[in-house]
Amino acid sequence: MIIAETAAEVRSRVAEWKKEGLTVGLVPTMGYLHEGHASLITRAAGMCDRVVASVFVNPTQFGPGEDLETYPRDFERDCAVLEVHGCDLVFHPDVSELYPEGAATFVEILSDMPKQLCGKTRPIHFRGVCTVVCKLFNIVTPDRAFFGQKDAQQLAVIRRMVRDLCFDIEIVGCPIVRESDGLALSSRNVYLSPEERRAALVLSRAVDLGKRFYAEGETDAGRVVRAMSELISREPLAKIDYVSAVDGETMMPVEELTPGVLVAMAVYIGTTRLIDNFTVGE
Ligand code: AMP
Repeated sequence: MIIAETAAEVRSRVAEWKKEGLTVGLVPTMGYLHEGHASLITRAAGMCDRVVASVFVNPTQFGPGEDLETYPRDFERDCAVLEVHGCDLVFHPDVSELYPEGAATFVEILSDMPKQLCGKTRPIHFRGVCTVVCKLFNIVTPDRAFFGQKDAQQLAVIRRMVRDLCFDIEIVGCPIVRESDGLALSSRNVYLSPEERRAALVLSRAVDLGKRFYAEGETDAGRVVRAMSELISREPLAKIDYVSAVDGETMMPVEELTPGVLVAMAVYIGTTRLIDNFTVGE
């Protein structure tokens, strides 16, 4: 596996592959990899001839007071995980490589979509995500890029950006990978104390409850969201940021659960903010 720190090296490797007629998949990550990330690499390796992963903690998607400085990092271990799952090149740039002195150009979706759900408490988050993903797309020029359903709003935002900016890149959404007890894997789970780790199970329990309501014929979004919220509220260590049912593409609120609707939540467990979701009918 090649480790590249500069855009120039990535470009020249990708150019060689493309000359040979090989397809290239990209998996953007912030590192501290787990089985969720590994599933994206495996999927990319199954669908593309060569796989590029990026490991970059992107400063522009963190707001003031968020965990940019403390975000967990272990690049050596990340490389081991990437290699065994079939990654060919890891792009691990310095901040100055992607944001040279004076960088002042951002990519931002100006509809209400990035202001919903996580955008309410993280107003600059998706601007940062779009900007860094756009840079990675320009450097790697992949045929396909792989993103997890765990970050469902991010996936919807990226799909919109690709459409609006005419990128010739197929976006592949991949299912949420969970621990055996249901907790969605996240690099931020490392912040949880043993007691918080137990409390964090309310998120996946709320997902299960919402799915069960729908399976039993309940299609009133308000009733399902209320039942999920009540379940979460009973956990003393949990504080709800939001539980919402939204259109799976626009992220705008809906009143009825129909196939494709996204039911998503963000919940603080202690000081750690966790997200989880399900898509109706999946
Ligand atoms: P991150 O390193 O948290 O920015 O995540 C990088 C990619 O991995 C994103 O596309 C995430 O949606 C995806 N991802 C993170 N956690 C999971 C998970 N538990 N299951 C599936 N994909 C995930």
